[in-house]
Amino acid sequence: MRVQSPNYPRGIKHYDSMPYSNHVRPASRKALSDVIHAPFWLDDPLHPAPQPTLTTQTSTDLLVIGAGFSGLWTALLAREENPNREIVILEAGEAAHAASGRNGGFLDASLTHGFANGLARWRRELPTLLALGIQNLNEIEAALARYNIECDYLRSGDLNVATDPLTTSPKCARNRRKPPHSA
Ligand SMILES: Cc1cc2nc3c(=O)[nH]c(=O)nc-3n(C[C@H](O)[C@H](O)[C@H](O)COP(=O)(O)OP(=O)(O)OC[C@H]3O[C@@H](n4cnc5c(N)ncnc54)[C@H](O)[C@@H]3O)c2cc1C
Repeated sequence: MRVQSPNYPRGIKHYDSMPYSNHVRPASRKALSDVIHAPFWLDDPLHPAPQPTLTTQTSTDLLVIGAGFSGLWTALLAREENPNREIVILEAGEAAHAASGRNGGFLDASLTHGFANGLARWRRELPTLLALGIQNLNEIEAALARYNIECDYLRSGDLNVATDPLTTSPKCARNRRKPPHSA
């Protein structure tokens, strides 16, 4: 898929499709003033200890670099495909220290950070992206059931809440309306 500059429909500004604030409100800053900057999963004294550093030569059928979601899912799918395949995952830090250990836990069918953003950037490919996003969500759900992973998974749908004049503007509200074919 070619990544291109967003081509917003007439009258739509960038903040209509990605209406996230770039300015931290004083109240938010205060509320977060005593937070510890540590991934939730590593902030538990019972978290599994990392494996020792690899210091010897090794060989394997499949080498995966990085133990984030991408690497771990790659290893899992490769093992599903061939249970006899030997797999080594090399991680520079500790599993969960990077983005995968810090994310907010939202499982969204959108692969484009929202419908309007997808529409602005990949109008032609959007039907495919929407279908792939729903397939992706369904497959994650199936894997959670298959491996009996307890992660408080809940397929709840989603709700967008407008909280300031920018996001309550009629243009923005119109733009955030869900298309009939989204999850
Ligand atoms: C604060 C935050 C909140 C988020 N919230 C959400 C959310 O709610 N929902 C959602 O869907 N997404 C969310 N995301 C995005 C999502 O977490 C990431 O897209 C996803 O975790 C990326 O996974 P990854 O495996 O590609 O990368 P990472 O999790 O960054 O893992 C890459 C790993 O590779 C290792 N590595 C890199 N180079 C090497 C090397 N040369 N040798 C060995 N190891 C290496 C790194 O140490 C790292 O552990 C969030 C991201 C952040 C940062």
